[in-house]
Amino acid sequence: MIPLTKTIFLPKPRGFCAGVIRAIDIVDIALERLGRPVYVRKEIVHNRFVVDRLAARGAVFVESLDEVPDGAITIFSAHGVAPHVWEEARARKLRIIDATCPLVTKVHIEVIRYARQNYSIILIGHRNHDEVIGTLGEAPNAVHLVSSAADVDALENVQADRVIYVTQTTLSLDDTQAIVERLKQRFPAIVSPPSSDICYATQNRQTAVKVLAEKADLILVVGAQNSSNSNRLVEVARNAGTAAYLIATARDISGEWLEGCFSVGVTAGASAPEILVLEVLENLRLLGFTRVEELEIIGEDVHFPLPAPLDKFDRVVS
Ligand code: SF4
Repeated sequence: MIPLTKTIFLPKPRGFCAGVIRAIDIVDIALERLGRPVYVRKEIVHNRFVVDRLAARGAVFVESLDEVPDGAITIFSAHGVAPHVWEEARARKLRIIDATCPLVTKVHIEVIRYARQNYSIILIGHRNHDEVIGTLGEAPNAVHLVSSAADVDALENVQADRVIYVTQTTLSLDDTQAIVERLKQRFPAIVSPPSSDICYATQNRQTAVKVLAEKADLILVVGAQNSSNSNRLVEVARNAGTAAYLIATARDISGEWLEGCFSVGVTAGASAPEILVLEVLENLRLLGFTRVEELEIIGEDVHFPLPAPLDKFDRVVS
């Protein structure tokens, strides 16, 4: 009998999206052109490896603007910020470079537009996620946050005849659909966003994981614990009936997971760099998974331009 070759399935797309590439490029270019230090409010993207690399180059990551000296160059992360953060930055004369993903900005603009028209706005998202905090901050009196169908049932003070929903960009498509169905039952006149707020990268990676789940015994998702889209990939795989785990690095792989496994799917969240995927492949190779099959599931060709010239600021002498 010919022994089965243990196989790794590697889908495309996986890993970095256009918004993450742009945000990281902004920090790299700012360091190159403007010199150290460059302050970054919050993790530029939710990945420790990325943050540590940029910190080693001279980026200073802070949780709040209080930690930034007056007038310093400060970058806002890909997740976006609430207007009060902009106001504080202007008052402190910080020199801001905004790395908010344009697809997050799209949701902010929807909230601003409908709040001005006096709509009730239902934001589907995860409480305390950086992106949700920023979006909510655009119209805190008009926005109602929901994370589940039960939250929809508990909603109060919503104008049933003047209501719209928007979503966080990195949600599970299937879970969100269930919440939207409940919203439509409760508020038949609810307006949908002109196009899905769940971004192309989130949608494509979830579609790819569903294909992976049909082929692999186990799925490993490379991504950070606080990465929303990475967590959703694990959920999508499990909902499709395949065992799946979130791993920050190759070191997190447990031998137990691989017992009886002949095929492993390896993917990565939108903020996880490819080098971490390559380390996982090497680790799996050492554990006997010697064949790699690439699966081209969806083509991606999305690029976002950099924000207004990064060199409009004077160089900072460190
Ligand atoms: S996951 Fe989507 S919304 Fe988030 S940075 Fe990437 S492209 Fe933008």
